Amino acid sequence: MLKYIDIRNLMIIKDAQYIASYPSYSACPEGDVPEYAFVGRSNVGKSSLINYLLNRKNIARTSNKPGKTQMINYFLVNASWYMVDLPGFGYAKVSKKQRKSWELMVKNYLQHRLQLQNTFVLLDLNIKPQKIDLELINWMGEIQIPFSIVYTKMDKTRKRDIADRLLAYEEALQASWETLPPRFISSANKRVGGEDILAYIEQINERIKTNSKKS
Ligand code: GDP
Repeated sequence: MLKYIDIRNLMIIKDAQYIASYPSYSACPEGDVPEYAFVGRSNVGKSSLINYLLNRKNIARTSNKPGKTQMINYFLVNASWYMVDLPGFGYAKVSKKQRKSWELMVKNYLQHRLQLQNTFVLLDLNIKPQKIDLELINWMGEIQIPFSIVYTKMDKTRKRDIADRLLAYEEALQASWETLPPRFISSANKRVGGEDILAYIEQINERIKTNSKKS
């Protein structure tokens, strides 16, 4: 697993606020604030991870009920970057129409949103690789959307099973890809892995700043 913590990249969350929710990528805020998206199947632990990263009890609503209108949620962090909470997918009970509408909204956002710097795809370390997750990852890889993987709920996995669970995912990914994207292991409950994810974001933010000074 990659470690990104470097003293220069340590990110302290000084401020995080919910901005608004949007029904499509074209309605999202204009401007050049860099943004980082979080996506995953429902119940993967996305809301818990966002709350943990932003150091807030309930900034991300943990009850994204299936069937409810799904939106693209924006949070402004440290007045310098957006955390974007994308609607969860893969509810057992959604209709074909709802599934299609998720796909359209999220895939359009991922494909066309210019401010998007990186997407974190969340995978539950406690379950086997799921077809629906691999399909999303393979699609992102094919059209070269930069992404990283965040394994969630690590505290729920027995220590001796962690290596096997990781191997199962990595083998499934390596079936399609020679090189794997950055990967992070996390637990929102035990507050593990957050510093690495934030340092990775900070590293990209710093690179953007340096590049914009040069040009
Ligand atoms: P979301 O649907 O992806 O937003 O997932 P939630 O954040 O609502 O979490 C789904 C369920 O997983 C809830 O019951 C959480 O309490 C649980 N959960 C989330 N993160 C963790 C974690 O790090 N460890 C454990 N053990 N459970 C977690």
